[in-house]
Amino acid sequence: AAYENLGVKRCRRFMVLVNPFGGQGKGATIFNKKIRLVLETAGCPSEIIYTTHQGHAQEIARTLTLDDYDAVVTVSGDGLIHEVLNGFAEHPESKRALGIPIAPIPTGSGNALSLNLLGIEDGFDVLVATLNAIKGKPMKVDLFSVIQGGKRTISFMSQAVGLIAEVDLGTEHLRWMGDARFTCGLLWEIMKFKPCPVQLSFKLAENDKDKMAATVHANRNRAGSSASSGSSASSAELEDEEHDSLPPLKYLESSSDDWTTLDDEVLYVYAGQGPYVNRDWMAFPVSSPNDGLIDIAAMSRSSRGDLISLMDGATKGTSFWHPKVHYIKAHAYRIKPLKKKGFFAVDGESLPFEEFQVEVHKGLGTFLSP
Ligand code: ADP
Ligand code: MG
Repeated sequence: AAYENLGVKRCRRFMVLVNPFGGQGKGATIFNKKIRLVLETAGCPSEIIYTTHQGHAQEIARTLTLDDYDAVVTVSGDGLIHEVLNGFAEHPESKRALGIPIAPIPTGSGNALSLNLLGIEDGFDVLVATLNAIKGKPMKVDLFSVIQGGKRTISFMSQAVGLIAEVDLGTEHLRWMGDARFTCGLLWEIMKFKPCPVQLSFKLAENDKDKMAATVHANRNRAGSSASSGSSASSAELEDEEHDSLPPLKYLESSSDDWTTLDDEVLYVYAGQGPYVNRDWMAFPVSSPNDGLIDIAAMSRSSRGDLISLMDGATKGTSFWHPKVHYIKAHAYRIKPLKKKGFFAVDGESLPFEEFQVEVHKGLGTFLSP
């Protein structure tokens, strides 16, 4: 109260979730050596929990006392953010919970959210990330519902089937490599070269690559800043909304008349937003964090040479222009696997390889951004 009288804002009250297992297993050490003191010096009252098992962060988010915290800080990779969002989705006041901003501090092997929020220069700098947690502004971003059978999973970054899913999920044993495990995994998959037959249907928003590139270019010039500038959340906007439930699914019952279907032997389907999915690959260069659309990249069956050529310029997003890559912006999409076995990764976590449908919820999630 004394601070408020001086016109000084108090520091955010944080729930800090530290994953000691993420990345190369250095999360707890980095937190104690570099981050804890900064939070203390800034005067941020923080509750610190070290996660002890998979699903722990989700349990904490599901029962979080919303009035007690201003933000959730994750000291880990993208997996913990996925858990927090899914915990919030199961919270009795899910909409209000999803209004609590998340600030990632990158100590995992996949740290795409940090990269997209902080930029390629600072994306792996844990101190820049800590300052963002203290000083960043809330930003609304699209989230995705992945529906499989009766189950609804929230995704903030990506869904992958085929080759990319195998790279994401099949390299756990290479954790010691840090994020180089994804590059090694990719080379391994290129050697194996196994196409994945699927049926991809979508409710189309745009499929003209030139138009998509021109639009994103114009938007960025207007914003004059980083690729991931979303709209900032006004508190009035948050208060007007219903507080207790997730948005209903719009496309589940709808007829497929106005949907487009692609029957193909693809090497992968990769859908989501970014632009970065890791330091070495800008998979969704024209994605926008708050446009209510999902970007879908599907690589048709092609040669090993085509795949290798995808790696050329991957950091700059040139895979977007590859003639064998279909790139679509959609409101929703559905995938039916046309074979029994395969991999399905959501935000890098494993789900059953079965039919699923995805739709977008515009601006449902909240992250802190510089
Ligand atoms: P990375 O980018 O290295 O994969 P993540 O943040 O994605 O890092 O975390 C990897 C996985 O670790 C997640 O699935 C998470 O649920 C799990 N996890 C969290 N705490 C623990 C723990 N104490 N032991 C083992 N796994 C854990
Ligand atoms: Mg989007």
